[in-house]
Amino acid sequence: MPKAARKQQKNLIQNIAVQRMWRLFELAKAELPENPERSRHYVQLIRNISMRNRISIPGEIKRRICKHCYAFLMPGHNARYRLRDGFIVISCGHCGKEMRYPYKKLK
Ligand SMILES: [Zn+2]
Repeated sequence: MPKAARKQQKNLIQNIAVQRMWRLFELAKAELPENPERSRHYVQLIRNISMRNRISIPGEIKRRICKHCYAFLMPGHNARYRLRDGFIVISCGHCGKEMRYPYKKLK
């Protein structure tokens, strides 16, 4: 296969993987209030896709997932979002840990 075509195919696979992550993200969000364990399972599937395809989780999704316990984070429900020193600080209501992301990258 020519190099260009191979690259194109790789992009296609990555696009499909990202689409799949978004779908799982929506499922995780929908299941959170009634079924937090299933919601967490969807989050784990998102992480699996990311690892298997060696692509990073889109930033918008990443900030809604606890990187310590994989809980889906919903502001006002199980997560607190604050700004501190140019960082967005997210507290997980499930495991109580915090994550920090540079605020600049957040659109
Ligand atoms: Zn957590």
